Amino acid sequence: MNKLIAGNWKLNGSLAGNAALVQAVLAGVGSVGGASCDVALCVPAPYLAQLQALLAGSAVSLGAQDVSSHESGAYTGEVSASMLREFGVRYAIVGHSERRLYYGETDEWVAQKARLALSVGITPIVCVGETLAQRESGATEDVVKRQMAAVIHTNGHCISEIVVAYEPVWAIGTGKTASPEQAQQVHAVLRTQIKAATVQPGRVRILYGGSMNAANAAQLLMQPDIDGGLIGGASLKPAEFLSIISAALAVA
Ligand code: PEP
Repeated sequence: MNKLIAGNWKLNGSLAGNAALVQAVLAGVGSVGGASCDVALCVPAPYLAQLQALLAGSAVSLGAQDVSSHESGAYTGEVSASMLREFGVRYAIVGHSERRLYYGETDEWVAQKARLALSVGITPIVCVGETLAQRESGATEDVVKRQMAAVIHTNGHCISEIVVAYEPVWAIGTGKTASPEQAQQVHAVLRTQIKAATVQPGRVRILYGGSMNAANAAQLLMQPDIDGGLIGGASLKPAEFLSIISAALAVA
């Protein structure tokens, strides 16, 4: 399966800035031969229509950064899976640590969000990962397995259709990256858990996220259980983002 490099723009962007950024990414993806690496951009909801138009006919997929755990109704401010689908969204990040931390998202909500995304044909990118305190107390495996278990419990065999992103919280936006060995170790644990839960585990890509950049991408993407990257800060810099795509193509 192709590696997947997904950019997470977080709370960044403007109509003019987005157009310039997408133009640079599309030009670069064309020249590095993006066909054997899947690429997605997960953008703030107000920009979905703009990005849908900018990415039309290109090899780059559109992604959202969240989806409601409700289908419709009195949930002010929420954006539903079917609304995202209307804008051609292919991927939706769910359970990003920033949402778990700042908005109190629980494992069960995250599992529901994944379920509703899948129900309309959107691939959820389910984020799991431990805090520094959890790592230092030796709880890393228990934490990521618990976060994954909720998604497996709610989605059953459909989990063969998800993407997982292992994102150690201490590595997100901090410039501290998990070493390739640290990341691989957790990816292998997740792979084993997924294998036990579905007859089609080979369909599930497990991305690494956490300060991935042009300098460290190749070593991370070379690991046997690292199937791509979820890229925050570096996805806002076209040259950096394109270098990560090139690194993914080189190890494909
Ligand atoms: C992220 O937001 O998912 C992320 C990995 O951020 P960064 O690459 O900036 O650490």
